[in-house]
Amino acid sequence: MSNDQLMDKIVSLCKRRGFIYPSSEIYGGLAGFWNYGHYGAILKENIKCLWKQRFIFDREDMLVTDTTIISNPKVLQASGHVTNFGNELFKTEIGTGEETATSHLRAETAQGIFVDFKNIVDSHHPKLPFGVGQIGKAFRNEISPRDFIFRQREFEQMEVEYFIKESDWEKYFEMWRETMNKFASEIGIRVYEFEVPAEERAHYSKRTIDFQFDYPFGRSELWGLAYRTDFDLKNHQLDYLDEETGDRIVPHVIEPSLGVDRTVLAVLANTYTEDELGGEKRVYLKLNKNIAPVRAAVFPLLKNKPELVKKAREVYESLKLSANSYQLEYDDNGNIGKRYRRQDEIGTPFCITIDFDTLTDDSVTVRDRDTGEQKRVKIADLKENL
Ligand code: ATP
Repeated sequence: MSNDQLMDKIVSLCKRRGFIYPSSEIYGGLAGFWNYGHYGAILKENIKCLWKQRFIFDREDMLVTDTTIISNPKVLQASGHVTNFGNELFKTEIGTGEETATSHLRAETAQGIFVDFKNIVDSHHPKLPFGVGQIGKAFRNEISPRDFIFRQREFEQMEVEYFIKESDWEKYFEMWRETMNKFASEIGIRVYEFEVPAEERAHYSKRTIDFQFDYPFGRSELWGLAYRTDFDLKNHQLDYLDEETGDRIVPHVIEPSLGVDRTVLAVLANTYTEDELGGEKRVYLKLNKNIAPVRAAVFPLLKNKPELVKKAREVYESLKLSANSYQLEYDDNGNIGKRYRRQDEIGTPFCITIDFDTLTDDSVTVRDRDTGEQKRVKIADLKENL
């Protein structure tokens, strides 16, 4: 399969199965804007939850925030965005009538964290090093949005601003580099580090590593890790009182910045698989079970047999009660073959079928998505087999 074909197939699967639709499609769409449908929204949410867990909640040195998309126009002037991003910023008017002010939608989530730095320090008194993480939308009026959700005009970022003493920057750069690599392997993707040469780095960065991915259209940036120095806090004239020494210092910043949508695209491109199973061609997403939109689907073998339906509902409800951390689906549309095909296409790792034997032996058939293998499992042991 050529790479162009692969991209077309991913886009078409995403639409067919309710992952991603063109925004405003019934009006001809809008370049650079995409909507997430049911399964896409869950996949995206699972990725964001895992990021939040690994980059924030698993650690003791991290806080979280949720700041606004529109800020006082002075914020983006002080940050250098108005000068450096220029045309790429989306302009907007705040207020109606005569008293309006021109501002811009943020092009990265980071500034909200810098601008709140004093409030955060006053509220929590964190000791250096500490970080603040945020997930949120960013807007760039890209000249040529392209490659599906790779280059959009409205997208989402997961960013950490990690505040450190200048002398420690190499150590913490390495720490976040490792965290990003681990995150990549946890979601099952292979990333390639690219040391960005000085002349290509953003003006504020003393070191940047791009984490690249082999998309169907070629190797390109997935995430970035930058040492932003003290550029941002200095711009906003903010500093920090070192309580041990009594000195006021301007902390330096390490920034792991991960695009949510590019991560979704990398995961889709990485897991789209075509093979043959039982002599039939099939398509499936080989998603890791920790991010698959549906962890398991429960089927009654036949939907017109009330005793099977009753038992299947029971199994579904009991799993649903115990499995609050992942999504389950009850599916009785079409025959079993059709249900498998549909669940394969959305990347469901396990399908559970309730058949006539279940009624006497309290066992079900669990089918593995990747191998198609089926095994009998006691209902009581189901949870630990998913
Ligand atoms: P590129 O060079 O591809 O334009 P960038 O270097 O400008 O990206 P950053 O400013 O470092 O990107 O933004 C951090 C992250 O935000 C990127 O690594 C990427 O995951 C994501 N991102 C940036 N621009 C877009 C976009 N237009 N659409 C989707 N995601 C984006």
